[in-house]
Amino acid sequence: MKEGIHPKYGKAVVKCACGETFETGSIKQNLSVDICSKCHPFFTGRQKLVDTGGRVDKFKKRMEQK
Ligand SMILES: [Zn+2]
Repeated sequence: MKEGIHPKYGKAVVKCACGETFETGSIKQNLSVDICSKCHPFFTGRQKLVDTGGRVDKFKKRMEQK
């Protein structure tokens, strides 16, 4: 691929909130996700144990206030 013609499509490092990183193909070089196959309850068989900075709690509080 020539520079400037196509968006760069290559390896992207995806960083998960649990700390797991893995590579994928993307035009972005760095991606971040909240959940990955390593920590997703569906794959781990456990309840969500990674609370990314209390985001879930905040969401719950917001829902309760309404
Ligand atoms: Zn993860």
